[in-house]
Amino acid sequence: MITVDKAKLIIEKYINILDIEKIELKNSGNRVLAEDILANFPSPLFDNSAMDGFAVRSSDLSGAKHSSPIQLKLIGISSAGSPTDIIVREGQCVQCMTGAKIPAGADSIIMVENTSGFDNNVVQFFSETSIGNNIRKKGEEVEKGTTLILKGTRITPSEIGILATFGYGSVSVYKRPKIAIFGTGDELVEPGNDLDHGQIYNSNLYVFSDLVKKSGSELIIKKVIKDDKDSLKSFLNTALEECDIIISSGGVSMGKHDYVRDVFIELGVKEQFWKVAQKPGKPLFFGTRNSSLIFGLPGNPVSSYIGFMIWVWPVLIQMMGESEDLSVTAILREKFPLENQKHRYLFGKAWYEENTLVCKPTTKLGSHMLLSSKNANCIIEASKGDNYLELGTRVQINLLPWKIIK
Ligand code: AMP
Ligand code: MG
Repeated sequence: MITVDKAKLIIEKYINILDIEKIELKNSGNRVLAEDILANFPSPLFDNSAMDGFAVRSSDLSGAKHSSPIQLKLIGISSAGSPTDIIVREGQCVQCMTGAKIPAGADSIIMVENTSGFDNNVVQFFSETSIGNNIRKKGEEVEKGTTLILKGTRITPSEIGILATFGYGSVSVYKRPKIAIFGTGDELVEPGNDLDHGQIYNSNLYVFSDLVKKSGSELIIKKVIKDDKDSLKSFLNTALEECDIIISSGGVSMGKHDYVRDVFIELGVKEQFWKVAQKPGKPLFFGTRNSSLIFGLPGNPVSSYIGFMIWVWPVLIQMMGESEDLSVTAILREKFPLENQKHRYLFGKAWYEENTLVCKPTTKLGSHMLLSSKNANCIIEASKGDNYLELGTRVQINLLPWKIIK
């Protein structure tokens, strides 16, 4: 049995960042950028109107108010996408819609609500204005050449919007790890079917599939296998050929039918470690074959889920070139039970009290009790020790990125 720290160092040695590929922008959501993104032009690209209204020379309207409006002659229209080359001279105005280019000669936009409207050739203005009013200035958001997004950033709706704004039709991203997940157990039945005596539903592979998807990896193979060596072998042979990462749930403990580790080794997987001083999930297996990484997670649903997040998720993220670290610290608001020989992980809830991040472990502690994950938004961890960590202790928590802190 090795320590959590030692196990992490071993895994670290085998993580390779994947190659880069160019993909269309429309397919880039949840991928990780493999290039810095620069502004190829200033934004806004040209002075344009922030309002539907009129482009005017502000000096023409000095003293205008409701009780004594000033009139200007309408000489044209500038709409978004259809600029005008008319020049606004003294006593004149141009209709100018939101996003439309400001016509030469004008220095201000008056919104239509402060005028007699769009329907007249002579327009009454009910208010004064000043230079630059309601004009979005060229380059006011970013100058040409500014770095907009750093390499290693995951593409979320914000990034995809920025990429589109700056005209990127395709982007360089890291390839996605190819994943095989499998569960073992004669007792496992797919949800939607009836259970016989002694059977349970396979839940772990549904959790794994969703985690693989959320991480942005590519699920290639998903299968539940009976507890017999031959079916395990033929499945694993294919998985090892086709996938970067193989993740199993179950069959790595000390049980009579726990063949997974044996089969891995028979198929040429080099065992890097088996058993880590942690709870839950002590019988964690990690092995390598060529560039494939193999994780054997225990079958208990909580051990499987926490094991994936602590051991597999960071690997997937790093292989995709992402730099995000999900661990932060928080102050315990309830006691945290320690293990005297093992690193302890528990689902937990984190929230803000004033400006301080605080947390508490979930109450159901059994590693077969998946309901403990439902209200959790993090996994709290603590090194081995006696009894409890007291209230007020600062602990490390690993955020579940799809949950909200509240
Ligand atoms: P094992 O690691 O194979 O000894 O399994 C430990 C516990 O996890 C047993 O109670 C199994 O029935 C349960 N288990 C194993 N695989 C799954 C799965 N895919 N979904 C839900 N429970 C499972
Ligand atoms: Mg089993």
